[in-house]
Amino acid sequence: MKQGRLIVVSAPSGCGKGTILGRVLEDKERFYYSVSCTTRAPRAGEIDGVHYHFLTRERFEALIAEDAFLEHAEYNHNYYGTLRAPIDEHMAAGQDVILEIEVKGASQIRALRPDASLIFIVPPSIDVLRERLINRGTEERDVIEQRVALAAEELQYAPDYDYVVVNDDLDTAIADFCAVVRAVELKNIK
Ligand code: 5GP
Repeated sequence: MKQGRLIVVSAPSGCGKGTILGRVLEDKERFYYSVSCTTRAPRAGEIDGVHYHFLTRERFEALIAEDAFLEHAEYNHNYYGTLRAPIDEHMAAGQDVILEIEVKGASQIRALRPDASLIFIVPPSIDVLRERLINRGTEERDVIEQRVALAAEELQYAPDYDYVVVNDDLDTAIADFCAVVRAVELKNIK
């Protein structure tokens, strides 16, 4: 059987990553979405074991000590990490494994796994991102500015990625993302 591919996806918040991935991941046989561990509290509607494995800091640190993580990072005062074991298992079963992680974790994968393909989803510009967050109207202005500043910082990591998908028009971004994934699948492994 053909080995699945390791695909890392990052995006600053507000770039439509959830919507794009939601569409792509509908194909459950083809893709395995890696369920991360985190120490942050579940949000409304989030299910343990589906969206994340929600762990205490103590448990997370014990897993770090056991070398259970392929990568892990702190983001917004919480730990996030990818468990090693399910990745190789699902790739061996022929599924593409999708890691949805932030930029520091992605650079760890870059160094550890030369076979990984890294995709960055970006807004057309920082100004457009700010405009979208304002129009969404779910956050106060100072929170929006914090998010915009964080996004600007994260965008500095773009050179670490193999592919950059600009989310200007959503349908185009989805088509571009799918085209990248297909190209990754067709890549000749030497
Ligand atoms: P949220 O708390 O909004 O679900 O996620 C915050 C950030 O953590 C997002 O950028 C998300 O992609 C990232 N993240 C989720 N899981 C992991 C992980 O296992 N490792 C790393 N490094 N980042 C993660």
